[in-house]
Amino acid sequence: MVRLTMAFTAALITLTLAGIQAQRQPAGTFHQGKAYRFNKVADGVYHAVGTGALSVVGNSSVIVNDNDVIVVDDHVSPAAAWVLLDELKDITNKPVRTVINTHFHYDHAHGNQIFDKDVAIIGHEFTRQMLMGGKSIEMPLYKSYVTGIPRQIEDLKKRIAAESDAARKANLQTQLQVAENNSASQAELKPTPPNVTLQTRMTLYRGDREIQIRFLGRAHTAGDVVVYLPKEKIVCTGDMLTSALSNMSDAFVDEWSKTLEELKKLDFVTVLPGHGDAFTDRAKIDYFQAYLRDVWDQVSRLKQQGVSAEEAAKRADLTKHREHFPGIQAPGVPLIGVTRIYELLDGTVRRD
Ligand SMILES: [Zn+2]
Repeated sequence: MVRLTMAFTAALITLTLAGIQAQRQPAGTFHQGKAYRFNKVADGVYHAVGTGALSVVGNSSVIVNDNDVIVVDDHVSPAAAWVLLDELKDITNKPVRTVINTHFHYDHAHGNQIFDKDVAIIGHEFTRQMLMGGKSIEMPLYKSYVTGIPRQIEDLKKRIAAESDAARKANLQTQLQVAENNSASQAELKPTPPNVTLQTRMTLYRGDREIQIRFLGRAHTAGDVVVYLPKEKIVCTGDMLTSALSNMSDAFVDEWSKTLEELKKLDFVTVLPGHGDAFTDRAKIDYFQAYLRDVWDQVSRLKQQGVSAEEAAKRADLTKHREHFPGIQAPGVPLIGVTRIYELLDGTVRRD
């Protein structure tokens, strides 16, 4: 049954991709009409970034070895992962033999189910527990993502109708196809946990390449792992460190900064984050640590004063971090993060 469903999904994607393929451009140029752009970071190492402003797919990292491919994070849906595999053919015809989930969130692990049983899906023990327990679909962010898809589709249709530039229109059409596939794909979704787990550390060797999978402490979730290539001096950080602010719905806000301190001990030059573009400026880690400490302190103080979470979410003022995080437009922080901090302060979050 699962096989049939997957075959159906594959057929669906193939059909829609037929239209996309007609618009393909040479590799290395802006990938008009494609869902992913593969930014080469080192020999055989790519940061696969979703194209288009409305993309909700986040990023994967792709490590092409002598005989196989490792994919770090596999996206919001089986459909998005199928598209990734298809577009991967532009850079390699080697098989994906290993997937690594940086954490359990839907936008990083809901593609797991499309892989054959002999593909190793590696993640932290906690990531497995969460995916087994259905936690990725209980997330408020997942729910709002799913309910937002129809609106996104309508919006894209309107923008396509109004767009006169052919290249931009093609890009919007791809976004629409991905959104429609994601929508259809939710019915097929079967959150699939890692089949290989680790607690603190695991190293894969592929030819000359060393791939370390490291748990450095609780941060964005209780089970974030980073993928570290010591020779290439590259680290894939998932949502523990993105190019902007990460959501805090499952975070250990008070421990996050310490975990980032552990990250700093690794000898890397390039960060491939789970959202946003790759970067080399290590000072971004300091900025994010300062933000995390500030949000924790402010919200803790407000809670001590007896302020409700809703009110604290309005009052906490992080605008002084705006220079480094332009997304901060005005005072206030997302309620979901404040609620989490309140839970952490109340001691209702398991830390064992
Ligand atoms: Zn996440």
